Amino acid sequence: MADKNKTVKELKEKLFKQKKNGILRISDKELKNCDKFCEGYKKFMNRAKTEREIVADTVELLEKKGFVEYKKGMKLKAGDKIYRNNRGKAIIMAVIGKDDIKKGVRLCAAHIDSPRLDLKQNPLYEDTEIALFKTHYYGGIKKYQWTTVPMSLHGVIIKADGSTVTVNIGEDDSDPVFVVSDLLPHLADEQMRRPATKLIKGEELNLIIGSRPFKADNESEAVKLNILSILNEKYGITESDFISAELEAVPAFKAKDVGFDRSMIGAYGHDDKVCAYPALMATVECDDPKHTVVTVLTDKEETGSDGNTGLCSSYLEYFIYDIAEALGSDGRTVLSASQCLSADVNAAYDPTFPDVNEKNNAAYLNMGVVITKYTGARGKSGTSDASAEFAGRIRRLLDKNDIVWQTGELGKVDGGGGGTVAAYIANLDVDTIDLGVPVISMHAPYEIVSKLDTYMAYRAFSVFIAD
Ligand code: MN
Ligand code: MN
Repeated sequence: MADKNKTVKELKEKLFKQKKNGILRISDKELKNCDKFCEGYKKFMNRAKTEREIVADTVELLEKKGFVEYKKGMKLKAGDKIYRNNRGKAIIMAVIGKDDIKKGVRLCAAHIDSPRLDLKQNPLYEDTEIALFKTHYYGGIKKYQWTTVPMSLHGVIIKADGSTVTVNIGEDDSDPVFVVSDLLPHLADEQMRRPATKLIKGEELNLIIGSRPFKADNESEAVKLNILSILNEKYGITESDFISAELEAVPAFKAKDVGFDRSMIGAYGHDDKVCAYPALMATVECDDPKHTVVTVLTDKEETGSDGNTGLCSSYLEYFIYDIAEALGSDGRTVLSASQCLSADVNAAYDPTFPDVNEKNNAAYLNMGVVITKYTGARGKSGTSDASAEFAGRIRRLLDKNDIVWQTGELGKVDGGGGGTVAAYIANLDVDTIDLGVPVISMHAPYEIVSKLDTYMAYRAFSVFIAD
């Protein structure tokens, strides 16, 4: 054996999997690029918090970068940059490649909806001279985490006359915020005996929005009246207009560096903007790709991807069919030859809660972008489970381009689980694997990611779509 002359150290280096912290594996220059990229990400996080705001922000960026809105039937050629806005809540963008479209597209799919509190359709009420909004939480949350957190309100109201009012209040330093209350510990004896799932019940997630009555004698519900009068003055709405509104309460926190070393970012909604933003940046910076590049930023992932802006609907498929046809092929041929990175976050190993992971297969902060071959729960149920061949292809691609990466599964076997949009895209006969950023405190009002992992996600998408 040739290895006889090697020292044990050399042999280990050759045979063992790389386990060095990503920071020790990249140059100072690369680290600088990483930190610069993350400054852009933080700005993005602070200006667009909901799917609608991200779509609007993305359209603005795309048009600046020469993308045009694509309508079925438009002629296409290599180098063309197009997008399709799906109802203001999801967006697909594409850069037409030099190669025949029959060879498939390079697809990146991330989601831009995040857990939050949605207002109910009859949200406004007054109780003991305090005005509140009833909410229904969106996505999987630990409800108790969402109390006593400053919240902002985002969304749209479609008025009786059909006109649209856009709402964004609570983000500006001079704006008021809204808050869900919790009991003082002094009186929480009974509450603290509830199981954690019921510590705060769904119907206790009520947002406090006002407390001054309208000045009039002997009128009931004067606080509610005062709020409606303020809303009428500001937005021209009446109480019935809430019926045709989508108003989302989200944490009013700003994205900030975390740690003395500024190595991490804390923000609301890293899941999944920390994959959406890198995928978007990689796509807008891509010129003259070999394969056609398609990037979709979708809605509704957190509620199961159903609905016409979620990836269980046909909107992505229709787009691929349309461009395939415009380029002289057909959707089925293109999809079957396509490859996809399902860009979603995974759970990062948290030293405070080690028991939920199996440490050989957990994803770690600063170990790079994480490849997740399968998700699902209870015997891989609900996963598309990427093939060894496709995992091998992605692994070679990342190694060839010096991208720091790791593998990770979502928690130990039978510890829980979850899914991504990977299965819905794989079900279209597309080779698909999950690739994204590990997150600490996922689905909490304030989530944490590492800057290095975020930057490596961007590099991974860049090399994937250029390949
Ligand atoms: Mn996600
Ligand atoms: Mn999620």
